[in-house]
Amino acid sequence: MSVIDSALVQIKQLHPYSPGKPIEELERELGISNVIKLASNENPLGCSPLARQVLESASEHIELYPDANAYYLKQALARKLGIGENQVTIGNGSNDVLDLIARSFLDRDTEAIFSQYAFMVYAMVTQACGASARVAAAMDASRETPYGHDLDAMHGLISSSTRIIFIANPNNPTGTWLDADELEYFLERVPDRIAVVIDEAYFEYVDNKRYPNALQWLTRFPNLIVTRTFSKIYGLAGLRIGYSVSSPELCDLFNRVRQPFNGNSLGLAAARAALDDDDFVVRSRLCNQQGLQSMRQWLDQRGIEYIPSAGNFLTVRFGESSARVYQSLLERGVIVRPIANYDMPHFLRISAGTEAQLARMYEVLGEVL
Ligand SMILES: *Cc1c(COP(=O)(O)O)cnc(C)c1O
Repeated sequence: MSVIDSALVQIKQLHPYSPGKPIEELERELGISNVIKLASNENPLGCSPLARQVLESASEHIELYPDANAYYLKQALARKLGIGENQVTIGNGSNDVLDLIARSFLDRDTEAIFSQYAFMVYAMVTQACGASARVAAAMDASRETPYGHDLDAMHGLISSSTRIIFIANPNNPTGTWLDADELEYFLERVPDRIAVVIDEAYFEYVDNKRYPNALQWLTRFPNLIVTRTFSKIYGLAGLRIGYSVSSPELCDLFNRVRQPFNGNSLGLAAARAALDDDDFVVRSRLCNQQGLQSMRQWLDQRGIEYIPSAGNFLTVRFGESSARVYQSLLERGVIVRPIANYDMPHFLRISAGTEAQLARMYEVLGEVL
């Protein structure tokens, strides 16, 4: 077999990420202009106004490479989070950070552990490194948190080849979450030769006293890596900035593995400004709480089941008709997210929208059902 052929065998097993359908694409296809998208957990309020304000001046010198060390953003994050600047690794979205964590630890002879129904990117980055995925069965319907991560089952998969354990808290696409006690107990039991990644992409949205801020454990567990993003509550998904917080030693490793300019100049400037925009975060959290409450009420009234969610979306059971419901919503200009690729063909994931977006979604969904 030629080099190309043998690479192809591995690469052809990779499945490209399937994103939510872009608004412009559907508008082009349908020849309409008022499509709404509740498919990618984007912020329905747009982006932080403070971030928007700095974009113009930040774009003045886009002929220059960005600051490869992201000095100002790291400084702002360090101040805000009470950590050292040398603990922050910036990525082109947190997906990029997940990828460089995988590339730092995984190769053909090693394994990564994650849960059934966990965020798809863990499987993708594991496979891209040629490593093996050990997938722990999720909690079943008899448990308190169906579809959620089963930390005991995940712990049971640890072997001498395990290098990374990925945990999404809360998880996408299920919205399930882990409380402080169970997560802390898990961290205590994992050998420190294994990196534990806690993905907190929805951290700023979660409103529950028992939901932990995993940064509190960084000094106790030097193998812990926490990832966060500006794509969700800060509304900067299009500018691709995410980050991890870890020990300075791990951060130094990631810094060697990452591409030199993986944080673009507009994104770095906007993220730094957004970080100071407490008002926007508060408004976004409130809008999300109201949106979720309204969705739950609408679904409860119709006896439609959904998985309790700590994120900015609900994963709703439409049973056998899920694909038809998705298609019919699309034809009426409402994009939601099918998750058959997560082996959840009977569900659709719907992001919480503004009151107006939700009203339109209810109207259209009512017709379709
Ligand atoms: C959206 C999301 C991310 C963030 O992706 P970015 O690359 O930062 O846009 C990471 N993890 C989970 C679980 C997500 O849902």
